[in-house]
Amino acid sequence: MHPELGFRETRTSAIVADALEKLGCRVHRNVGKSGVVADLGTGKPMIAIRADMDALPIRETNEAPYISQNPGVMHACGHDAHTAMTLGAATLLAEEKFPGTVRFLFQPSEEAGDNEGISGAPRMIQDGAMAGVDMVIALHVDPATPVGDIRLESGPASGGVDSWFGRVIGKGGHGAHPHETIDPIFISAHVIFALNGIVSRRLHPFSPAVVSVGAIHAGQAENVIPDQVDFAGTLR
Ligand SMILES: [Zn+2]
Repeated sequence: MHPELGFRETRTSAIVADALEKLGCRVHRNVGKSGVVADLGTGKPMIAIRADMDALPIRETNEAPYISQNPGVMHACGHDAHTAMTLGAATLLAEEKFPGTVRFLFQPSEEAGDNEGISGAPRMIQDGAMAGVDMVIALHVDPATPVGDIRLESGPASGGVDSWFGRVIGKGGHGAHPHETIDPIFISAHVIFALNGIVSRRLHPFSPAVVSVGAIHAGQAENVIPDQVDFAGTLR
């Protein structure tokens, strides 16, 4: 109900850390900026269970009792469920006796990098979150899988994400005189087709890859050809 964008998960991570402390975990706050690491038990092996906490910059238009209370921010891909599930696992494991250590990794900003382009997992690793960890268990909810089913994958189950940003710089002018401009919107149409050709024409057919354009910004008025078009997208 209170989604927060990447590296701004302060309310969420405080609730998570407080809950883990109540369960008797050894809690480290502000790991990888707004992440949380918590250990239960001692010694080897050390098995980590990982959840992500960040939301997306999308306005929620659902009509559900748990709808987002933060305008323009939404848990569209279910990281609130991952956080709740992993707290649930911690609650159950806190009642058990087991050999070794369970480490809970609550990761910030799975979706996006910070101003240096680095996302939550590498930031947590830089802060030592993986030191001594023998194995990590992680999951992602999948709306295509029926409730109650679990899908397992040997090897990578999801693509790693890289963000890209681009700009087509042209020469603007009046919409009535396109021949006197270098129309960046016209060029951008070709760029979008070319981007979609990377996967279909340049990569091996058995190589899983996705190139997506997520944002295009250009122009202010219907009769003015702008100077430039800005793009943003992802590679997976
Ligand atoms: Zn996700």
